[in-house]
Amino acid sequence: MRVPELRIQALNNQPLRSDRSFVLYWMTASRRVQWNFGLQRAVELAVALGRPLVILEALRVGYPWASDRLHRFVLQGMAENRRRLRGSPVRYYCYVELGAGHGAGLLEALANQAAVVVTDDYPCFFLPRMQQAVASRLYVRLEAVDSNGLLPMRAASQVFPTAYAFRRFLQKRLPEHLNELPDRDPLAGVTLPPPVKIDTEILQRWPEASDELLAASPEQLAKLPIDHSVGPGLADGGASAAKVVLRSFLTTKLHRYPDERNQPEADVSSGLSPWLHFGHLSTHQIFVELAQQEDWHPGSLSASTKGSKAGWWGMSEAAEAFLDELITWREVGFNMCWQRPDYDRYESLPEWAQATLAEHEGDTRQHVYSRDEFEQAATHDELWNSAQNQLLTEGRMHNYLRMLWGKKILEWSATPRDALDTMIHLNNKYALDGRDPNSYSGIFWVLGRYDRAWGPERPIFGTIRFMSSQNTARKVRVRDYIEQYRPRLRGQQTLW
Ligand SMILES: Cc1cc2nc3c(=O)[nH]c(=O)nc-3n(C[C@H](O)[C@H](O)[C@H](O)COP(=O)(O)OP(=O)(O)OC[C@H]3O[C@@H](n4cnc5c(N)ncnc54)[C@H](O)[C@@H]3O)c2cc1C
Repeated sequence: MRVPELRIQALNNQPLRSDRSFVLYWMTASRRVQWNFGLQRAVELAVALGRPLVILEALRVGYPWASDRLHRFVLQGMAENRRRLRGSPVRYYCYVELGAGHGAGLLEALANQAAVVVTDDYPCFFLPRMQQAVASRLYVRLEAVDSNGLLPMRAASQVFPTAYAFRRFLQKRLPEHLNELPDRDPLAGVTLPPPVKIDTEILQRWPEASDELLAASPEQLAKLPIDHSVGPGLADGGASAAKVVLRSFLTTKLHRYPDERNQPEADVSSGLSPWLHFGHLSTHQIFVELAQQEDWHPGSLSASTKGSKAGWWGMSEAAEAFLDELITWREVGFNMCWQRPDYDRYESLPEWAQATLAEHEGDTRQHVYSRDEFEQAATHDELWNSAQNQLLTEGRMHNYLRMLWGKKILEWSATPRDALDTMIHLNNKYALDGRDPNSYSGIFWVLGRYDRAWGPERPIFGTIRFMSSQNTARKVRVRDYIEQYRPRLRGQQTLW
């Protein structure tokens, strides 16, 4: 099937210039060559126009929180894309900035020769701003294609205040989109003209990344002007690594997911969020593999649209619990980000949450930590410190502890706005899956987004949902977790 119209958005009013040399796919968020509506759209246009296809995948150094950890993951994904496209009829142009701003002008230079430019529609971080700025400078059509989730972002024109409201909407409107799957391999069986030669002046000014650089060794990373204090995380980037983790989750962990997802020591959640974030893995792929394993077909869907968490899909309890996170919770964040440019601002919190936090802003705090103390995992609370240390060293934190982590930052910051800044900074600097719509859903959930008022009213929190380390330790097993992640040497938090 063709890419659905609802997923395609023109970012400028320029025409398609069919006399030009090639179709350009500017890969920015869906950094994969399979299950990708953006690449599929570019292939469709190249075939229709009888033009070769060029894929530009670039990596800047000047974006916020650029570090060895984030770069290594992206570079590994680029290396895999280069390997996969070798021998294909596509010219894959892989560019890595060696200095801030060095890449400026490359997209325009290529676009000057392109009949049309296709890119990824991603609603968060610096990408929308960057694409809007580029769109106004191009003299050719620039299209953004939404390959983010099962529901096209533009299928819903309202912002949902709760996951429940969004789930109800999904139950009414998702079925009509469930058959709209991207091609597993958009290049399979396609005849394209032979790959184009890129102009020598362009290649000289913006040289392609070497295989050595893409190998992302510590020596190569050390040459880049990025933050070297944030070392590699626990996971490797790329679609193949994602596939291994997905298979292992589906075959060995999924059945334990409903009962043990909240247990940090059980570690039965999928761990897929870094690959989802960098676009190395598609929700559609996960959904198709899960549906096959469950022997599911669309006729199994329930007709009920009451918004209940379980029973709608007609899959096992475990699969439904997982889909509620992967689809409802993940995509409600995309819904917020594409419609609210202020999705990362304190003022985007619901009014009741802002009011109750304001009322308690002057309350006495027993502990107030600076951002530095939080960052160094140097609070009085050993569970919190261990969770922060896991984030520092591995680039991940278990979901249940992430909620506690945020609630304590709210409790131990001078103001709720300080707490928000600290959460955004630490999450986005250290988490492999940070800088994502989910990051803002989770962080703002700590402050009341997608939630309701809870009694009793408490100091600092007001009616914002409260969590404590003591209650957490009673509810979930954390002794071994604390032992494993406790910061060993003050001032030397990282393990590498
Ligand atoms: C303070 C705070 C910050 C967070 N920051 C991020 C972040 O930067 N990036 C991020 O991807 N998630 C974030 N989350 C949400 C959640 O913690 C992670 O998505 C989840 O822990 C990822 O682990 P997993 O892949 O094993 O999840 P699984 O349980 O296996 O779920 C599968 C997928 O569903 C999505 N998902 C799961 N839980 C949530 C959730 N609560 N909200 C939205 N989507 C969800 C993720 O894409 C996840 O990979 C945050 C939550 C909190 C409370």
